[in-house]
Amino acid sequence: MYLNDLLKKNTFSREELGYLLGLKGDGRKAFWERSAAVKKEVVGPKVYFRGLVEFSNICSKDCLYCGIRKSNEKVLRYNATDDEILEACRFAWENRFASVVLQSGELSSPAFVKRVDRLLKKIKQLSNNELGITLSCGEQTRETYRRWFESGAHRYLLRIEASNRELYAKIHPGTPEHSFEKRVEALHFLRESGYQVGTGVMIGLPFQTVEDLAGDLLFFREMDIDMCGMEPYIEHEHTPLYPYRHLLQSKQERFELALSMIAALRLLMPDINIAAATALQAIDPAGREKALTVGANVIMPNLTPCNYRRDYLLYEDKPCLDEDAELCRNCLEARIELAGSEIGYGEWGDSRHFFKRRGYKHS
Ligand code: SAM
Ligand code: SF4
Repeated sequence: MYLNDLLKKNTFSREELGYLLGLKGDGRKAFWERSAAVKKEVVGPKVYFRGLVEFSNICSKDCLYCGIRKSNEKVLRYNATDDEILEACRFAWENRFASVVLQSGELSSPAFVKRVDRLLKKIKQLSNNELGITLSCGEQTRETYRRWFESGAHRYLLRIEASNRELYAKIHPGTPEHSFEKRVEALHFLRESGYQVGTGVMIGLPFQTVEDLAGDLLFFREMDIDMCGMEPYIEHEHTPLYPYRHLLQSKQERFELALSMIAALRLLMPDINIAAATALQAIDPAGREKALTVGANVIMPNLTPCNYRRDYLLYEDKPCLDEDAELCRNCLEARIELAGSEIGYGEWGDSRHFFKRRGYKHS
Protein backbone atom coordinates (compact mmCIF):
# COMPACT_ATOMS: atom_id res chain seq x y z
CA MET A 1 0.00 0.00 0.00
CA TYR A 2 2.77 2.41 1.04
CA LEU A 3 4.70 1.66 -2.17
CA ASN A 4 1.70 2.19 -4.47
CA ASP A 5 1.08 5.60 -2.95
CA LEU A 6 4.76 6.50 -3.04
CA LEU A 7 5.06 5.66 -6.72
CA LYS A 8 2.31 8.12 -7.57
CA LYS A 9 4.25 11.02 -6.08
CA ASN A 10 6.53 13.37 -8.03
CA THR A 11 8.52 14.69 -5.12
CA PHE A 12 10.30 12.64 -2.49
CA SER A 13 12.01 13.07 0.85
CA ARG A 14 15.45 11.64 1.55
CA GLU A 15 13.80 8.82 3.55
CA GLU A 16 11.45 7.98 0.70
CA LEU A 17 14.30 7.89 -1.81
CA GLY A 18 16.30 5.68 0.56
CA TYR A 19 13.31 3.35 0.78
CA LEU A 20 13.01 3.13 -3.02
CA LEU A 21 16.74 2.46 -3.39
CA GLY A 22 16.54 -0.37 -0.85
CA LEU A 23 13.67 -2.20 -2.62
CA LYS A 24 14.18 -5.76 -3.84
CA GLY A 25 11.94 -8.43 -5.42
CA ASP A 26 8.35 -7.49 -6.36
CA GLY A 27 8.62 -4.03 -4.82
CA ARG A 28 11.59 -3.18 -7.00
CA LYS A 29 9.85 -4.61 -10.05
CA ALA A 30 6.90 -2.28 -9.47
CA PHE A 31 9.28 0.67 -8.90
CA TRP A 32 11.19 0.00 -12.14
CA GLU A 33 7.93 -0.45 -14.07
CA ARG A 34 6.75 2.92 -12.82
CA SER A 35 10.00 4.67 -13.82
CA ALA A 36 9.80 3.02 -17.26
CA ALA A 37 6.25 4.35 -17.67
CA VAL A 38 7.27 7.87 -16.58
CA LYS A 39 10.15 7.83 -19.04
CA LYS A 40 7.86 6.79 -21.88
CA GLU A 41 5.28 9.39 -21.01
CA VAL A 42 7.64 12.35 -20.49
CA VAL A 43 10.66 11.88 -22.80
CA GLY A 44 9.31 9.13 -25.08
CA PRO A 45 10.94 5.94 -26.38
CA LYS A 46 13.81 7.59 -28.30
CA VAL A 47 17.44 7.05 -27.39
CA TYR A 48 19.99 9.67 -28.45
CA PHE A 49 23.58 8.90 -29.40
CA ARG A 50 26.59 10.89 -28.21
CA GLY A 51 29.74 9.58 -29.87
CA LEU A 52 32.39 9.46 -27.13
CA VAL A 53 35.94 10.51 -27.99
CA GLU A 54 38.36 10.01 -25.09
CA PHE A 55 40.98 12.21 -26.68
CA SER A 56 43.67 12.25 -23.97
CA ASN A 57 44.41 10.42 -20.72
CA ILE A 58 46.88 13.03 -19.47
CA CYS A 59 45.58 14.36 -16.17
CA SER A 60 46.87 16.76 -13.54
CA LYS A 61 44.66 15.31 -10.81
CA ASP A 62 44.87 12.36 -8.51
CA CYS A 63 41.32 11.21 -7.73
CA LEU A 64 41.76 8.14 -5.55
CA TYR A 65 39.38 5.93 -7.59
CA CYS A 66 40.55 6.63 -11.12
CA GLY A 67 42.87 4.41 -13.17
CA ILE A 68 44.33 7.31 -15.17
CA ARG A 69 45.15 9.50 -12.15
CA LYS A 70 48.38 11.47 -12.41
CA SER A 71 50.35 9.24 -10.03
CA ASN A 72 49.61 5.98 -11.83
CA GLU A 73 52.94 5.51 -13.53
CA LYS A 74 51.85 2.30 -15.22
CA VAL A 75 49.61 4.21 -17.64
CA LEU A 76 50.94 4.90 -21.10
CA ARG A 77 49.93 8.52 -21.65
CA TYR A 78 48.46 9.60 -25.00
CA ASN A 79 47.12 12.64 -26.70
CA ALA A 80 45.16 11.86 -29.87
CA THR A 81 46.09 14.09 -32.81
CA ASP A 82 43.66 16.69 -34.14
CA ASP A 83 43.23 14.57 -37.28
CA GLU A 84 42.32 11.47 -35.27
CA ILE A 85 39.79 13.41 -33.21
CA LEU A 86 38.27 15.07 -36.26
CA GLU A 87 38.08 11.73 -38.06
CA ALA A 88 36.07 10.26 -35.15
CA CYS A 89 33.77 13.30 -35.23
CA ARG A 90 33.34 12.96 -38.98
CA PHE A 91 32.30 9.33 -38.47
CA ALA A 92 29.71 10.50 -35.93
CA TRP A 93 28.36 13.14 -38.30
CA GLU A 94 28.27 10.86 -41.35
CA ASN A 95 26.47 8.20 -39.34
CA ARG A 96 23.91 10.74 -38.10
CA PHE A 97 24.88 10.45 -34.42
CA ALA A 98 24.15 14.20 -34.23
CA SER A 99 26.37 14.76 -31.17
CA VAL A 100 29.81 13.96 -29.81
CA VAL A 101 31.32 14.05 -26.34
CA LEU A 102 34.97 15.11 -26.06
CA GLN A 103 36.36 13.72 -22.81
CA SER A 104 39.84 13.84 -21.29
CA GLY A 105 41.89 14.03 -18.15
CA GLU A 106 41.87 17.45 -16.52
CA LEU A 107 44.42 19.98 -17.71
CA SER A 108 44.14 23.74 -17.53
CA SER A 109 47.30 24.95 -19.28
CA PRO A 110 46.80 27.74 -21.85
CA ALA A 111 47.91 25.27 -24.56
CA PHE A 112 45.18 22.78 -23.57
CA VAL A 113 42.49 25.47 -23.40
CA LYS A 114 43.51 26.74 -26.81
CA ARG A 115 43.62 23.28 -28.30
CA VAL A 116 40.08 22.40 -27.18
CA ASP A 117 38.93 25.77 -28.50
CA ARG A 118 40.47 25.07 -31.88
CA LEU A 119 38.97 21.57 -32.00
CA LEU A 120 35.50 22.92 -31.24
CA LYS A 121 35.70 25.31 -34.17
CA LYS A 122 37.00 22.61 -36.51
CA ILE A 123 34.27 20.15 -35.50
CA LYS A 124 31.61 22.75 -36.17
CA GLN A 125 33.23 23.52 -39.52
CA LEU A 126 33.51 19.91 -40.70
CA SER A 127 29.86 19.25 -39.91
CA ASN A 128 28.25 22.43 -41.31
CA ASN A 129 27.56 23.40 -37.72
CA GLU A 130 25.41 20.30 -37.35
CA LEU A 131 27.23 18.22 -34.73
CA GLY A 132 26.25 19.01 -31.15
CA ILE A 133 29.27 19.02 -28.81
CA THR A 134 29.41 18.00 -25.16
CA LEU A 135 32.64 18.57 -23.26
CA SER A 136 33.87 16.59 -20.27
CA CYS A 137 37.31 18.03 -19.49
CA GLY A 138 37.00 18.68 -15.77
CA GLU A 139 37.16 21.87 -13.72
CA GLN A 140 38.11 25.03 -15.57
CA THR A 141 37.87 28.75 -14.94
CA ARG A 142 34.71 30.70 -15.70
CA GLU A 143 36.54 32.35 -18.63
CA THR A 144 37.54 29.02 -20.13
CA TYR A 145 33.98 27.67 -19.89
CA ARG A 146 32.70 30.83 -21.59
CA ARG A 147 35.31 30.67 -24.32
CA TRP A 148 34.51 27.03 -25.11
CA PHE A 149 30.79 27.77 -25.11
CA GLU A 150 31.29 30.59 -27.58
CA SER A 151 33.33 28.27 -29.79
CA GLY A 152 30.53 25.73 -30.07
CA ALA A 153 30.25 23.45 -27.01
CA HIS A 154 26.73 23.53 -25.63
CA ARG A 155 26.64 20.75 -23.05
CA TYR A 156 29.13 19.95 -20.28
CA LEU A 157 29.47 16.90 -18.04
CA LEU A 158 31.12 17.39 -14.67
CA ARG A 159 30.23 14.75 -12.13
CA ILE A 160 30.11 15.79 -8.52
CA GLU A 161 31.16 12.13 -7.87
CA ALA A 162 29.75 12.23 -4.29
CA SER A 163 27.58 15.07 -2.99
CA ASN A 164 28.29 14.31 0.66
CA ARG A 165 31.40 16.39 1.26
CA GLU A 166 32.76 13.94 3.86
CA LEU A 167 32.54 11.09 1.39
CA TYR A 168 34.02 13.37 -1.30
CA ALA A 169 37.00 13.99 0.99
CA LYS A 170 37.52 10.25 1.46
CA ILE A 171 37.79 9.58 -2.27
CA HIS A 172 39.99 12.56 -3.17
CA PRO A 173 43.36 13.81 -1.93
CA GLY A 174 43.01 16.68 0.57
CA THR A 175 44.68 19.25 -1.71
CA PRO A 176 43.13 22.54 -2.92
CA GLU A 177 42.86 21.16 -6.49
CA HIS A 178 40.51 18.47 -5.21
CA SER A 179 38.17 20.69 -3.23
CA PHE A 180 34.46 19.91 -3.06
CA GLU A 181 33.58 23.63 -3.02
CA LYS A 182 35.59 24.21 -6.19
CA ARG A 183 33.72 21.44 -7.97
CA VAL A 184 30.33 22.84 -6.96
CA GLU A 185 31.47 26.31 -7.99
CA ALA A 186 32.49 24.92 -11.41
CA LEU A 187 28.96 23.57 -11.86
CA HIS A 188 27.61 27.07 -11.17
CA PHE A 189 30.06 28.61 -13.68
CA LEU A 190 28.86 26.14 -16.32
CA ARG A 191 25.28 27.02 -15.72
CA GLU A 192 25.95 30.78 -15.89
CA SER A 193 27.89 30.30 -19.13
CA GLY A 194 24.78 28.91 -20.83
CA TYR A 195 25.55 25.19 -21.03
CA GLN A 196 23.15 22.33 -20.56
CA VAL A 197 24.73 21.05 -17.39
CA GLY A 198 25.24 17.40 -16.58
CA THR A 199 26.56 15.91 -13.38
CA GLY A 200 26.48 12.52 -11.66
CA VAL A 201 27.99 10.22 -9.09
CA MET A 202 29.61 6.81 -8.80
CA ILE A 203 27.44 4.19 -7.16
CA GLY A 204 28.73 1.60 -4.71
CA LEU A 205 31.85 3.48 -3.60
CA PRO A 206 33.59 2.29 -0.45
CA PHE A 207 32.21 4.20 2.60
CA GLN A 208 29.05 5.22 0.67
CA THR A 209 25.63 4.60 2.24
CA VAL A 210 22.12 4.48 0.76
CA GLU A 211 21.45 7.77 2.57
CA ASP A 212 24.38 9.31 0.68
CA LEU A 213 22.85 8.17 -2.60
CA ALA A 214 19.43 9.55 -1.65
CA GLY A 215 21.25 12.81 -0.85
CA ASP A 216 22.90 12.71 -4.29
CA LEU A 217 19.48 12.59 -5.95
CA LEU A 218 18.32 15.58 -3.91
CA PHE A 219 21.54 17.40 -4.81
CA PHE A 220 20.74 16.91 -8.53
CA ARG A 221 17.31 18.38 -8.02
CA GLU A 222 18.61 21.28 -5.98
CA MET A 223 21.19 22.07 -8.69
CA ASP A 224 18.35 21.81 -11.23
CA ILE A 225 20.58 19.82 -13.60
CA ASP A 226 19.69 19.12 -17.23
CA MET A 227 21.54 15.83 -17.69
CA CYS A 228 22.92 13.06 -15.54
CA GLY A 229 25.48 10.30 -15.98
CA MET A 230 25.81 7.81 -13.12
CA GLU A 231 27.57 4.48 -13.12
CA PRO A 232 28.73 1.83 -10.70
CA TYR A 233 32.12 2.40 -9.13
CA ILE A 234 34.49 -0.33 -10.31
CA GLU A 235 37.80 -0.85 -8.58
CA HIS A 236 41.15 -0.44 -10.32
CA GLU A 237 44.21 -2.23 -9.02
CA HIS A 238 46.60 0.71 -9.30
CA THR A 239 44.59 3.21 -7.28
CA PRO A 240 44.64 4.10 -3.58
CA LEU A 241 41.01 2.95 -3.12
CA TYR A 242 41.83 -0.61 -4.17
CA PRO A 243 42.82 -1.78 -0.66
CA TYR A 244 39.26 -0.93 0.47
CA ARG A 245 37.66 -3.33 -1.97
CA HIS A 246 36.59 -5.63 0.90
CA LEU A 247 34.09 -2.90 1.82
CA LEU A 248 32.39 -3.06 -1.57
CA GLN A 249 29.08 -4.68 -2.38
CA SER A 250 29.25 -7.35 -5.09
CA LYS A 251 29.41 -5.99 -8.63
CA GLN A 252 25.92 -7.33 -9.28
CA GLU A 253 24.58 -5.40 -6.25
CA ARG A 254 26.30 -2.21 -7.39
CA PHE A 255 24.80 -2.72 -10.82
CA GLU A 256 21.27 -3.16 -9.47
CA LEU A 257 21.67 -0.15 -7.21
CA ALA A 258 22.77 1.89 -10.24
CA LEU A 259 19.59 0.86 -12.06
CA SER A 260 17.54 1.91 -9.02
CA MET A 261 19.35 5.28 -8.94
CA ILE A 262 18.42 5.83 -12.60
CA ALA A 263 14.81 4.81 -11.92
CA ALA A 264 14.55 7.08 -8.87
CA LEU A 265 16.02 10.03 -10.76
CA ARG A 266 13.55 9.53 -13.61
CA LEU A 267 10.73 9.82 -11.04
CA LEU A 268 12.30 12.83 -9.33
CA MET A 269 13.33 14.76 -12.48
CA PRO A 270 11.20 13.25 -15.29
CA ASP A 271 12.29 15.60 -18.11
CA ILE A 272 16.09 15.48 -17.85
CA ASN A 273 18.41 13.42 -20.05
CA ILE A 274 19.90 10.41 -18.28
CA ALA A 275 22.82 8.46 -19.76
CA ALA A 276 23.19 4.70 -19.76
CA ALA A 277 26.92 4.82 -18.90
CA THR A 278 29.63 2.39 -19.97
CA ALA A 279 30.50 0.91 -16.55
CA LEU A 280 27.03 -0.67 -16.46
CA GLN A 281 28.08 -2.81 -19.39
CA ALA A 282 31.35 -3.74 -17.67
CA ILE A 283 29.26 -5.64 -15.11
CA ASP A 284 26.39 -6.93 -17.24
CA PRO A 285 26.75 -7.29 -21.03
CA ALA A 286 23.18 -5.98 -21.40
CA GLY A 287 23.69 -3.34 -18.71
CA ARG A 288 23.12 -0.27 -20.84
CA GLU A 289 19.96 -1.71 -22.39
CA LYS A 290 18.62 -2.47 -18.91
CA ALA A 291 19.33 1.13 -17.93
CA LEU A 292 17.38 2.31 -20.99
CA THR A 293 14.45 0.18 -19.90
CA VAL A 294 14.26 1.66 -16.38
CA GLY A 295 14.74 5.31 -17.34
CA ALA A 296 17.88 6.30 -19.26
CA ASN A 297 17.51 7.90 -22.73
CA VAL A 298 21.08 8.68 -23.87
CA ILE A 299 23.87 6.30 -24.86
CA MET A 300 27.50 7.06 -25.67
CA PRO A 301 28.97 4.76 -28.33
CA ASN A 302 32.74 4.73 -28.00
CA LEU A 303 34.47 6.41 -30.97
CA THR A 304 37.91 6.64 -29.35
CA PRO A 305 40.51 5.36 -31.85
CA CYS A 306 41.03 1.66 -30.93
CA ASN A 307 44.80 2.03 -30.44
CA TYR A 308 44.20 4.32 -27.43
CA ARG A 309 41.33 2.52 -25.71
CA ARG A 310 43.44 0.27 -23.51
CA ASP A 311 45.16 3.36 -22.11
CA TYR A 312 41.89 4.99 -21.00
CA LEU A 313 41.25 2.36 -18.37
CA LEU A 314 39.41 4.09 -15.55
CA TYR A 315 38.51 0.74 -13.97
CA GLU A 316 39.02 -2.98 -14.56
CA ASP A 317 37.13 -4.88 -17.31
CA LYS A 318 36.20 -1.75 -19.26
CA PRO A 319 34.18 -3.07 -22.23
CA CYS A 320 34.48 -2.55 -26.03
CA LEU A 321 38.25 -2.19 -26.09
CA ASP A 322 38.59 -3.74 -29.54
CA GLU A 323 35.33 -2.77 -31.17
CA ASP A 324 35.83 -0.13 -33.84
CA ALA A 325 33.26 2.61 -34.39
CA GLU A 326 31.40 0.75 -37.14
CA LEU A 327 31.10 -2.46 -35.14
CA CYS A 328 30.08 -0.51 -32.08
CA ARG A 329 27.26 1.20 -33.97
CA ASN A 330 25.90 -2.04 -35.42
CA CYS A 331 26.04 -3.79 -32.07
CA LEU A 332 24.29 -0.92 -30.30
CA GLU A 333 21.59 -0.61 -32.92
CA ALA A 334 20.60 -4.23 -32.42
CA ARG A 335 20.73 -3.99 -28.63
CA ILE A 336 18.64 -0.83 -28.50
CA GLU A 337 15.94 -2.32 -30.66
CA LEU A 338 15.90 -5.34 -28.39
CA ALA A 339 15.34 -3.01 -25.45
CA GLY A 340 12.18 -1.71 -27.19
CA SER A 341 13.60 1.74 -27.96
CA GLU A 342 14.34 3.58 -31.18
CA ILE A 343 17.42 5.64 -32.03
CA GLY A 344 16.93 9.36 -32.61
CA TYR A 345 19.29 9.47 -35.62
CA GLY A 346 20.13 12.99 -36.73
CA GLU A 347 18.51 14.57 -33.66
CA TRP A 348 20.39 16.43 -30.94
CA GLY A 349 17.93 15.14 -28.36
CA ASP A 350 18.59 18.05 -26.02
CA SER A 351 17.33 17.99 -22.47
CA ARG A 352 13.67 19.02 -22.30
CA HIS A 353 14.38 20.27 -18.84
CA PHE A 354 16.90 22.77 -20.22
CA PHE A 355 14.32 24.27 -22.58
CA LYS A 356 11.75 24.43 -19.83
CA ARG A 357 14.01 26.25 -17.42
CA ARG A 358 15.07 28.69 -20.17
CA GLY A 359 11.42 29.32 -21.01
CA TYR A 360 11.60 27.91 -24.56
CA LYS A 361 9.10 25.53 -26.02
CA HIS A 362 10.72 22.20 -26.88
CA SER A 363 10.44 21.33 -30.57
N1 SAM B 1 38.63 14.31 -16.01
C1 SAM B 1 37.27 14.65 -16.16
C2 SAM B 1 36.55 14.60 -14.84
O1 SAM B 1 37.04 13.95 -13.92
O2 SAM B 1 35.48 15.23 -14.75
C3 SAM B 1 36.55 13.77 -17.17
C4 SAM B 1 37.08 12.39 -17.36
S1 SAM B 1 36.84 11.30 -15.95
C5 SAM B 1 37.78 9.92 -16.41
C6 SAM B 1 35.15 10.79 -16.22
C7 SAM B 1 34.49 10.05 -15.10
O3 SAM B 1 35.06 8.76 -14.93
C8 SAM B 1 34.60 10.67 -13.72
O4 SAM B 1 33.69 11.71 -13.56
C9 SAM B 1 34.33 9.47 -12.80
O5 SAM B 1 33.00 9.46 -12.31
C10 SAM B 1 34.52 8.25 -13.74
N2 SAM B 1 35.41 7.27 -13.12
C11 SAM B 1 36.70 7.41 -12.81
N3 SAM B 1 37.16 6.30 -12.16
C12 SAM B 1 36.12 5.44 -12.08
C13 SAM B 1 35.95 4.13 -11.52
N4 SAM B 1 36.95 3.51 -10.91
N5 SAM B 1 34.72 3.56 -11.62
C14 SAM B 1 33.70 4.19 -12.24
N6 SAM B 1 33.80 5.42 -12.78
C15 SAM B 1 35.00 6.04 -12.70
FE1 SF4 C 1 41.69 12.94 -13.75
FE2 SF4 C 1 39.03 12.85 -14.18
FE3 SF4 C 1 40.43 10.65 -13.44
FE4 SF4 C 1 40.07 12.60 -11.66
S1 SF4 C 1 38.45 11.33 -12.63
S2 SF4 C 1 42.00 11.54 -12.06
S3 SF4 C 1 40.18 14.40 -12.98
S4 SF4 C 1 40.62 11.78 -15.34
